[in-house]
Amino acid sequence: MIDKNMFASDNYSGICPSAWKALEEANHGFGCAYGDDDWTHRACDALRDFFETDCQVFFVFNGTAANSLALASLCRSYHSIICHELAHVETDECGACEFFSNGTKVLLVPGADGKVDLDAVRHTVERRTDIHYPKPKALSLTQATEVGTLYTVAEMAAIGGLAKGLGLKLHVDGARFANALASLNVAPAELSWRAGVDVLTFGGTKNGMPVGEAVVFFDHKLAEEFDFRCKQAGQLASKMRFLAAPWAGMLEAGALLDNADHANSMARLLATQLTGIEGISLVHPVEASAVFVRLPEPLIDALHDAGWHFYTFIGSGHARFMCSWQTTAADVGYFVAEVKRLADLQKI
Ligand SMILES: *Cc1c(COP(=O)(O)O)cnc(C)c1O
Repeated sequence: MIDKNMFASDNYSGICPSAWKALEEANHGFGCAYGDDDWTHRACDALRDFFETDCQVFFVFNGTAANSLALASLCRSYHSIICHELAHVETDECGACEFFSNGTKVLLVPGADGKVDLDAVRHTVERRTDIHYPKPKALSLTQATEVGTLYTVAEMAAIGGLAKGLGLKLHVDGARFANALASLNVAPAELSWRAGVDVLTFGGTKNGMPVGEAVVFFDHKLAEEFDFRCKQAGQLASKMRFLAAPWAGMLEAGALLDNADHANSMARLLATQLTGIEGISLVHPVEASAVFVRLPEPLIDALHDAGWHFYTFIGSGHARFMCSWQTTAADVGYFVAEVKRLADLQKI
């Protein structure tokens, strides 16, 4: 069955088999509430193994909460957070970051292909040091970015060095961090704490879990009282084991990276096939699971009329097609044939 929602977003996908299996295994007997259970301990340990360091881990329901609570823990109300102008934190979180930090201001910087321009970051920090300016305190990056591109390990290390030099804490919105790891084929430690990342919001939902993101603090001091912050924000799950079990199951089975790797390879296949059609070109390099293309306006309309669901307002405002753990090569083939058929019809 072809489902015309399948390229709309990676959160249109279902629950992957290893997350489902873990949930089923966790669904026996009783478990301590609020995170003091075996599954939560096991998932935290699995994440510490994954990152090869003694990090502090918290599970929350979604990415908006993970980002805004993590950022709130880095800042006071008179501080500011620097991020890219396309960052989810700025464009898709309804001001949650400012709300949970009691008014910390978000300052935007530009940058090609969804990546912050380092000179702009430096300028934003150094242009004012007086008491009237919201003091820059954190830099937030998205990895993989909102337009499906990646910061390499070297770029991350350079940013980490810059942030340190400027006195900024470094946060990474990793809703698709697994896609970045799989694509760059590097150790999780290299792309995080060894590059200077202080706190990572690590996405599970878009990579095959039913719900839930992990907030991973590499600097223990910053995690102080984070449990209270989560509770007050309504983000402390009472049956925490069901947020944690998919992390344990997927990490132990290697599914976290396998799923991401699969989504990335489907995106590469889709990009190659779509750009083989006359009039279609890539907007950004395809480095993770997103494909952004320029499509002629009548073709966008024809696809929408034929029932295909995809977004055209995300990032720089082109058509975006997302792949997930659930996308198959047959799905890609069917969709590309449809695009070609509709494109050909318009030539007549
Ligand atoms: C999806 C996404 C999130 C999380 O969004 P929620 O809907 O709040 O779970 C965060 N950052 C980025 C870049 C995303 O794409």
